[in-house]
Amino acid sequence: MAIRIRLGDYERVTGDVLGRDAIGCFPRMTEAEALEAGRGVWRLDMKIVSRERFLLITDAGQGLVRAVAEITAVTEHDTDRGRKKALEANLLGPGHPMYDTYINQPDPLANDSRNSVKYGDLPEELPFRTRDCACGCGGTTTHDFVPGHELRAIQARVREHFGGSVLSFITWLDAELPPAAPAS
Ligand SMILES: [Zn+2]
Repeated sequence: MAIRIRLGDYERVTGDVLGRDAIGCFPRMTEAEALEAGRGVWRLDMKIVSRERFLLITDAGQGLVRAVAEITAVTEHDTDRGRKKALEANLLGPGHPMYDTYINQPDPLANDSRNSVKYGDLPEELPFRTRDCACGCGGTTTHDFVPGHELRAIQARVREHFGGSVLSFITWLDAELPPAAPAS
């Protein structure tokens, strides 16, 4: 999933936990300025946000994407309005599919909510999405399995159900499934 953060109106701040003297958007802000203004601080669910990889910052007025970044860390901060979080992220640039698709384009996760923070799935992040390895080892991968773990997964099943005998497994499989059409 990706996280979308919508900037508010420009506002000078004092005592900001991220050391900024202003937040919100202003005309002709750079991508770096948009990221710095939007990366915190927010009330974020650590469980959800720790699974996010990409961050889109949109502006308040036009709802256009002003920065696209890859999240590297989530930090926690005590503020006068409770414990909040900020994102550490590196800006992405031309050539990256997330950047090329969304920069300066309308917010792909736009909704009617007043909440600045929105989570959502975007098709361009699919090749980058990490998930749990299907073998159950607890590792994460951008594919179905951590490399080599597809064999592990098969071997575990052969061990569990066929006493470790690949022959028994094959015999069972052939009896269970109709013959496949011959490859042409
Ligand atoms: Zn695995």
